Order: sequence, then C-alpha cells, then structure tokens
Amino acid sequence: MTYILDTEVKFLPGVGPKRAELLQKELSICTFGDLLYHFPFRYVDKTRVYAIREVNEDLPYVLLQGKILGFREVSAAQKRLVAIFADSTGSIELVWFKGISFIQKNLHAGSVYTIFGKPTSFNGKLNIVHPELEDMAKEEGKITSNIQAVYGSTERLKDMGLGTRTIGRLQSALLGMALPKIEETLPQYILEANRFVSLREALLNIHFPQSPELLKKAQDRLKFEELFYVELSILRSRTKRIKANNGFRFSQVGELFNHFYYNNLPFELTNAQKRVIKEIRADTGSGRQMNRLLQGDVGSGKTMVALMCMLIAAGNGFQSCIMAPTEILASQHFKSMTEMLHSMNVSVALLTGSTKKAERKNLLERLAQGDIHILVGTHALIEDTVRFCRLGLVVIDEQHRFGVAQRGKLWEKSENPPHILVMTATPIPRTLAMTLYGDLDVSVIDELPPGRKPIKTVHFFDSKRDRVFGFMREQIAAGRQIYVVYPLIRESEKMDYKNLQDGWEMITQVFPAPKYRVCMVHGKLKNTEKEEAMQEFVRGEAHIMVATSVIEVGVNVPNASVMVIESTERFGLAQLHQLRGRVGRGAEQSFCILMSGVKLSADSRHRIEMMCSTNDGFQIAEADLKLRGPGDLEGTMQSGMAFNLHIANLGADSKILEYARQFAEQVLDADPLLSDSKNELLLKTLVKLRSSAKDYSVVS
Ligand code: ADP
Ligand code: MG
Repeated sequence: MTYILDTEVKFLPGVGPKRAELLQKELSICTFGDLLYHFPFRYVDKTRVYAIREVNEDLPYVLLQGKILGFREVSAAQKRLVAIFADSTGSIELVWFKGISFIQKNLHAGSVYTIFGKPTSFNGKLNIVHPELEDMAKEEGKITSNIQAVYGSTERLKDMGLGTRTIGRLQSALLGMALPKIEETLPQYILEANRFVSLREALLNIHFPQSPELLKKAQDRLKFEELFYVELSILRSRTKRIKANNGFRFSQVGELFNHFYYNNLPFELTNAQKRVIKEIRADTGSGRQMNRLLQGDVGSGKTMVALMCMLIAAGNGFQSCIMAPTEILASQHFKSMTEMLHSMNVSVALLTGSTKKAERKNLLERLAQGDIHILVGTHALIEDTVRFCRLGLVVIDEQHRFGVAQRGKLWEKSENPPHILVMTATPIPRTLAMTLYGDLDVSVIDELPPGRKPIKTVHFFDSKRDRVFGFMREQIAAGRQIYVVYPLIRESEKMDYKNLQDGWEMITQVFPAPKYRVCMVHGKLKNTEKEEAMQEFVRGEAHIMVATSVIEVGVNVPNASVMVIESTERFGLAQLHQLRGRVGRGAEQSFCILMSGVKLSADSRHRIEMMCSTNDGFQIAEADLKLRGPGDLEGTMQSGMAFNLHIANLGADSKILEYARQFAEQVLDADPLLSDSKNELLLKTLVKLRSSAKDYSVVS
C-alpha cells in the first residue's frame, strides 16, 4: 500500500487534476508529502489588532478592525475599486483590481470588518491591495490557529484560486486525514536526547501553531532534522571517498616546482600561501583523491597557489587544467602563467570559446597526447571533445560562477577522479562551505601579500558627482587608472545598456580626448574588441575603463587605484566586495567610490554602510549571508546541496547547522555503517531522501 504522504496531490479533496498540474509546475508539489512540506514562510499573529495610526509600509501583514466609510468611484477603464476603511485612529485605502463586482456586492459601507493585508504606499498614500476579509464565523471542525500561516504562492496559482488562504485550507484538510498515519523520521533516541517533539506534532504546529512555544518547538525539530540528514549524507560520502583510496599519488614535489621556487618565483610567498600549498601537497601525496576548497579574499594570491600545485602535478607526470568563469580572466591567467614560467620546460595552452578551429584541433591533439601540461580555459574545457591524456588536477577559479553539474563534468574526464581544487573569494564559514559544496576540505588564505594599503571606501549621492570627477582628475594626474562600473542585470538588459552608454557619453565628455583616454568593456562586445580594450587598460594607455560587472572577477591591473561603482544599490554585497577587490593591488592608496541615488531601501543603506566600514571579506560574507541567505550568495541551483531545504536557512540557522553536523559526526563515529538497529530509521530515511533528489555531494 502506498504510504499516505506518497499519494498524488490530485487525490486531495479540493485539488483535482487541473490544480494538481499547476501545483506541480509552479511549486513542484506532486504528492501529499510535498504539500505538507510546503511550509509557511511567515506567520501573522492574528491576536494583535493594529490601530490604523500605527500602520506604515515597513510593516508586514497587519490585522485591522474598522468600518468601510464608502467607495471611491474609479473609472471603469482603470478597473480599480477603492474603499475607504477607518477606525477611531485614522483611515486607509483598500484597493481591488480583480473581483470588483463581487466585492461591491458583498461589502457594505457603514459595516464593520476585520481585514488583513500588507500595507504599501502609493502616491504617498497608504493602502492595502486585495486585503483578506476575515470570516467572522469560523468554520466548524477545521484545524485552525490564531497564528496564521502565510504560504508562498505564484501569480498563476492565485489565478486558479490557490493563494495562501486556500493552501492553508488544503493543509488543514490534509492534516485532518493524514496526521495519524504519518510515520516518525527520527529515531527515538535522537528525539529524546534533544527533547524534540514528534514529527506529527511538529507538522501540525508548523502549519497551525497552537501556541508560539509550540511553533518554536516545531521549527527547531524540523530545521534540525533537515540539516542533520544533509550532514549525514555528506559525511557518508566522505567516508566512502576516503575509503575508496583511488586518488592519483603525486609522490614527489618534483623538479619543476623546485626550479620555479628557486628561480622564477617573483616574490616571497606569504605564510598563508605556504601553508595551503603544504596542505595540498599532503593531500595529493596521500593516495586519496583531494577535494579541496580554497578560500581567500580578493587579492590574496590564490592564482600562485594554483600554479604551484599544477607544477607539482606536472612534476609527477600529470596534466592539469584551470577553469575560469570569463574569457578575460582565462586569458589573463594564461598570460601571467606563461610569463612566470619563462625559460621553463612547461607547456601551457589556452582554450576558450573563441579559440579558432584549426588552432583548437591542434591543441586538442596535443592535449590528448599529453604534450600540454597546463590547460587554461573557460567553460570550453568541459566540452566532450576535450580529452586529456593524464589529467591529475583540476582547478576551478571563482567557483561560485559555475554550476555544480558543470563542474562535475570536468572530473568525468578521467577514469580515476583527478584531484580537485576549487577557489573562491567569497569566504563563508567552514561548516557552511562543507554543506554547500558537499564533501570537501577547506583551506583558507587569511593573509594578504605585504605592502597592501587598505582600500578607502566612501559613498556619494549622484548629486555630488562633480566632486567625484574632480577627485578622478587628481588621481589621473598622479598617474593612476580608474574603473567606472555599471550594473548589468539580465532581466533589464536594455535599460542597463542604456545606462552604460549614457555613462560612457558622460565620462568621455568630462574626460575628453586627446587629453584623456577612456575605454569600455561589456558583454556585448566581440571578444577581440573586449580583449583590445582590456589590453589598452592593462598597458596603462587608457586612464579610465568604463565597464559592466564583467570585470567583477579576477582582473588584475595593479596601477588601477580607483573603483567607481554606479547605482551601487543594485549590486549585492559579495559582488561589491569583489568589484572593490579590483583595486588595492599595487603599492598606492586605493579608493572605492560608491555612487547611488538618494532614495535607498534599508537593505541598500545597510550594504553601503557595511562596505564603507570594513574591507574584511569574511565579515562581509557573513553580513551578506544574513541579508540574503546563501541561496543568493551562491546561486541556489549551483550549490552542492544534496537535498532541497524546506525550512532551514543556512545563513540564519548557522547554529543549528553546526549542531546538526556535530550530531551527525557522533552518530557516524559510533556506527559508521548505520547498521545498528536503532539507526535503521536513519538509513531508511536517508535512502528515501536521496532517491528524491539528485545527489551532488560526491563531487566537490
Ligand atoms: P586572487 O586571490 O584574488 O585570485 P591573485 O592571485 O590575482 O589574487 O593575486 C593578486 C596579486 O597579488 C597578483 O598581482 C599576484 O601576482 C600578487 N601576489 C600573489 N602572491 C603574492 C605574494 N606572496 N607577494 C606579493 N604579491 C603577491
Ligand atoms: Mg583570482
């Protein structure tokens, strides 16, 4: 017999085939279980009635009690109905765009109503669009709560009558019939050790909290459980990988590394770089496959670490490759590596989307024969036609730019999995990194090369632009170069390009030729044009580079000392920090100037303040995590999470995450194979979870 939660959702009274199809399309809800685990994203305490005077647009949902004073006629063409709603403290407008005739028929001026909705401000006036009207008579026999759940929905679902209220009703019906049949998913000893409520109690209270305390208990248990299984899954993969013992052994440091170290290394390595190279050396010499994340703030010198590890690979007769997210970055790596390896017998090649056909053919042949030691490239490396002779090490630069599946393809290129080094400038807490990227070890470069001066970051409103221009002139006169960056967000591409073009025009007017040279780089340019403009800037011929965020990652021009960021409010924190990292690479004092309009949301203000107050990437990453959660930070689809999270938030619930990991470690220490009878349920649940989600945790 099918387990109740595996029943298709169309069989739930009130759903039916049409709604079921839409639920699947819009929210991936296919079964009773999926619906039940579609948890509320917020609760509204309906025990608190607000006075209209207290209402402002920053409040989430509010419950109001008052009278409808009257309706305001809005011309039929505008299809809008406005009601004036008042209590003893003030009034607010209620607005409907749909279902107007129904509302007009059923709402009466002079009557008292309890309404519920999100206050917004329109033309300086407060209003509530499509408020919910409280049924004063509660439906008999239904599971209800005074702490009302708010469910995520979509426009299309709402059009089918599946807004938060209906979803709530479906949950009530579902719980009513399924609750007694729901099976526990945590073993008794874990429930007891943590004083967790049972799964049934948790599910009931997550949808219909019987009290704030019970809601908290439900959340605690469900969050723990979710994160615990993620950790359990990751830790088990890890055990498997370590046991498999099928990594290539780089038995020696090798001649190439030593030669480079004593003759070619242009500077003294920082202690952090040395430590990380040692860690990687130990991994790759162990016979186990390495899976390592290297975190280091922008400018901390990750590329050098990568290069030296690739030399170890080459010294042991293995090929390696490094994949970068943009062509600009790939060619820059190629150039600097080729230069650094001068007069050494190491062959480095570059493969990108714009590598010419003939050249490509030749390159691929040499690669397959093992004549190329180090291959630098972009996504082009992933293609099936790219075959190595003996791939021993894969380096992924700025890994957050790649999807997990994309990365996974790289190590399928070798029968034995090559060693993997993923590098990122977005430092995130260790446990979180290990969770997002699955089973891997973490190395950190926590030290910048000596002589760097901290970048000074300041914020200017657009109205103060003249002062910024004056400052730019001074800097150029002092021999420095400047980036001016415009946001580029795909959805509004046209607008963005217009902003960029306008910006370009303004800059070239204020900084006219021939005295000044300004170049421009953006994604719509041909590669050769992009490269030309880049080179102009790298060679120091152009004073100003106007660009979109294509230069966000990796570009290295030490003489550039000023980064002007336009429309700062449209960038995320991590991105801003990355952009700022383009300057401060030389010995000169560098500056980051954040431009914005005057109207800033609380979040934007917070981001700008954060940027102005610290250069520390770890602090910024932490703040970013709190602001946006790691989904945005890393791109949810790109993360290596084995399962989707329904309730836990890796940013906000970092304490629970730590605890869940420790707990999972304890369980596995005591019973590595989960063969103990008390852990039977763990194994069963794990298998079930895994079968319902693609498991990426085995690859980085
Ligand atoms: P990121 O970690 O952001 O990728 P890069 O590898 O691009 O940083 O390094 C930034 C700059 O610092 C480069 O110009 C690089 O040559 C230089 N660099 C790296 N390591 C050192 C060091 N130990 N001493 C001095 N300069 C260094
Ligand atoms: Mg880099």
